[in-house]
Amino acid sequence: MPTLLTHEEYQAIARDLSLPLNAYINGKFAAPKSGNRMDTLNPATGEKIGEMANCGAEDVDYAVTKAREVFDRGEWSRMHPSERKQIMIQLCKLMQRDRHQLAVLESLESGKPILECQMTDVPETIACLKWHAEATDKLYDQISPSGDDAIGMIVREPVGVAACVLPWNFPLMMLAWKIGPALSAGNSVIVKPAEQTSMTALRVAELAAEAGIPDGVLNVVPGDGPGAGEAIGRHDGIQVVSFTGSTEVGRRFLEYSAQSNLKRVVLECGGKNPALVLSDAHNLEHAAKHIVYAALWNMGQNCTANSRVIVHRDVKQELVERILGQLREWRTGDPLDPANRLGAIISAEQYEKILGYIATGKKEGATVIAGGNAIKAGDGLFIEPTIFDNVTSDMTIAREEIFGPVMAIMEVSSDAKGLELANDTCYGLQASLYTSNVKNAHRYARALQAGTVSVNCYAEGDIATPFGGYKLSGFGGRDNSLQAHEQYCETKTIWIDLSDDSIDEEI
Ligand code: NAD
Repeated sequence: MPTLLTHEEYQAIARDLSLPLNAYINGKFAAPKSGNRMDTLNPATGEKIGEMANCGAEDVDYAVTKAREVFDRGEWSRMHPSERKQIMIQLCKLMQRDRHQLAVLESLESGKPILECQMTDVPETIACLKWHAEATDKLYDQISPSGDDAIGMIVREPVGVAACVLPWNFPLMMLAWKIGPALSAGNSVIVKPAEQTSMTALRVAELAAEAGIPDGVLNVVPGDGPGAGEAIGRHDGIQVVSFTGSTEVGRRFLEYSAQSNLKRVVLECGGKNPALVLSDAHNLEHAAKHIVYAALWNMGQNCTANSRVIVHRDVKQELVERILGQLREWRTGDPLDPANRLGAIISAEQYEKILGYIATGKKEGATVIAGGNAIKAGDGLFIEPTIFDNVTSDMTIAREEIFGPVMAIMEVSSDAKGLELANDTCYGLQASLYTSNVKNAHRYARALQAGTVSVNCYAEGDIATPFGGYKLSGFGGRDNSLQAHEQYCETKTIWIDLSDDSIDEEI
């Protein structure tokens, strides 16, 4: 069980941290060639934490060159799988050693509560990397059923240079979801963190070198989307981009690929996820607990946030009362105070966007039954957890991804109507279903159009289950589980003729 420190101890760690503010390429920290920098801010205070390297096309190009050179030399790509595994496990041990520092770095830049960073983000990041490390020497290739006169070997090979383009909402976990399978498969990797949250990826790259991952294998190029992001998307030396972020930017990566080297593109994008509560749901206290967690976790800045609660009218009143009761558990404030479950919103832009959605919800006629306002705390970006009742399917807050602590409750007169509403979205990432009837559990879980459906809980599955979206929520592959390795591997058929009558003899 991960351990928590006190508020004062976390503040002391924050004061003493050395901040990684340069790109990490070929085993070294380096300033961007252009000299460009971008401010990295603490969203809980508005203070500048430091000036982060803002890499551009020339830095990306240098990183790709070095990544390719080491790939071709085979120092990692052809290392014995059991040795790759051991080095990745050593990285996990170093991250465990530095877990408090990693948790504080993550919290400072992202505004996430230290409670979450320490109890969820850091341990799950380590567990994810360890899981993929362990898979390295346990994945077999295949032989085709092609008879006795030939051997058809179906072998997996690393693609070469894999790029991971990350969002700001789970900087460490998204890093692990992608570099875990990419490194395990033997690739060289270029990571572009989101511009708001680059420091933990840089620290992990430094620890990877300490663990023994050869120079050039894991590179981190902090930078903005139009600069480093687009340069990655268009680079002819990159074989796959695994992206997590908005659907809008995801589409751009498909365009970049089409206009460059047809690199493989895997997209994990947005969501407008429903919690569907059927008329036969019985443990409504349990449901309310999960529903509130699903809406508010990470201040609702979560691609699987259950921002739509679709509930049968027979159970609605009791459910709403219990949801309001649960809300008392969710204190908002200083992210470094372990007593707080909600921290700051990532950026002024996102803060304004969320407040804009709350204003639109009020204007379009939904009823605020909790929250609904910004929280004044100096220059910190805090918003009250907000619950709207009487939301209808045509309202903006029922249709668009808000990415903030905002829940929309929609009442339906039949379970069938509830299912229809749940699927009435362009997204399909996650859905939660609450029912006490096993037949309904199976039928509705099948009928919900989402990559993950959790029943009587809010869940994304675990590291052993594939994660990704239907419709505009995803494209091209899955994160997590062994399926994630497929993103970073080519399939090669090696055909060996064993027959007596070779072509020469026939001629
Ligand atoms: P974003 O799309 O703005 O940015 C994601 C990444 O793309 C960042 O690294 C950014 O710098 C880069 N980028 C931005 N513009 C670019 C451009 N023109 N060219 C190349 N790269 C560019 O997303 P965000 O605001 O960081 O994250 C929020 C979004 O991510 C939400 O929509 C959320 O649902 C989604 N998300 C999805 C998942 C998932 O697994 N499906 C997980 C987390 C977040």
